[in-house]
Amino acid sequence: MPSYDSNNIFAKILRGELPCYKVYEDDKAIAFLDIMPRAPGHTLVLPKAPARNLLDIGADDLAHVARVAQKVAKAGMTALGADGITVQQFNEGPGGQVVFHLHVHVIPRKSGVPMKPPASEKEKPDVLADIAKKLSAALAAS
Ligand code: AMP
Repeated sequence: MPSYDSNNIFAKILRGELPCYKVYEDDKAIAFLDIMPRAPGHTLVLPKAPARNLLDIGADDLAHVARVAQKVAKAGMTALGADGITVQQFNEGPGGQVVFHLHVHVIPRKSGVPMKPPASEKEKPDVLADIAKKLSAALAAS
């Protein structure tokens, strides 16, 4: 497996070099909206540690990402009125991974509404900003 490349787009977001629609941050993890959401509220949860994916992340950082993913999932249920949550995480190109800094997809779902295909449409900034506000408020209160 290749080593971690600190020029990946999520590393740039973590360093503040690129913007994101942040919904949660603590000392070990960050969560922000996917800009090409498969459903409204599609959020990515990342460790701050420089891990490529599940295959090289430390166990403690992985456990922390899982805890944050759970918080984000619960916020999606309460703040966005989701009926369910899909969680996805891809490893290496053949496993479906496109950006090589570990991230867990937390995707709020509504009954009977299928997910859009991956990377099918970039969401409008005002829609993303509104959803980020709702999710961050719910996460701040949790
Ligand atoms: P994957 O590596 O296959 O798990 O997917 C990478 C995800 O990152 C895709 O769902 C993209 O829509 C998303 N994505 C790519 N660039 C950005 C960005 N600048 N901000 C937020 N999400 C992004």
